[in-house]
Amino acid sequence: MERNISRRAILKGGLIAGTLVPALGLLNKGRAASAIPPLDSKDPTANALGYVEDTTKVDNNANPTHKNDQRCDTCAQFKPSAGEARGACNIFPGKSVANAGWCKTWSKKS
Ligand code: SF4
Repeated sequence: MERNISRRAILKGGLIAGTLVPALGLLNKGRAASAIPPLDSKDPTANALGYVEDTTKVDNNANPTHKNDQRCDTCAQFKPSAGEARGACNIFPGKSVANAGWCKTWSKKS
């Protein structure tokens, strides 16, 4: 009996998570970047990925493949916000990143 309740609780939790996670992503899509809090470069994930607000400030010794044309606004993960200096990023949901920013997961927008 207890085993059934656990299984049910797990299924219920999975259904809720499966519904909420995409819904939270949709909330960001309609928001102007200025309405989304900026990503703090001291955030542990941002720090681990070497996020900076200005790609020209990247330490090229520590990131030898970095080039200054690698900016958030040329990255496949970036969602621009028209007329704004910031946009959303798939890697940092709920936070805005600078158009001129960069992190180690940069990949060229196709
Ligand atoms: S994944 Fe791309 S858009 Fe997001 S912070 Fe890194 S470089 Fe910028």
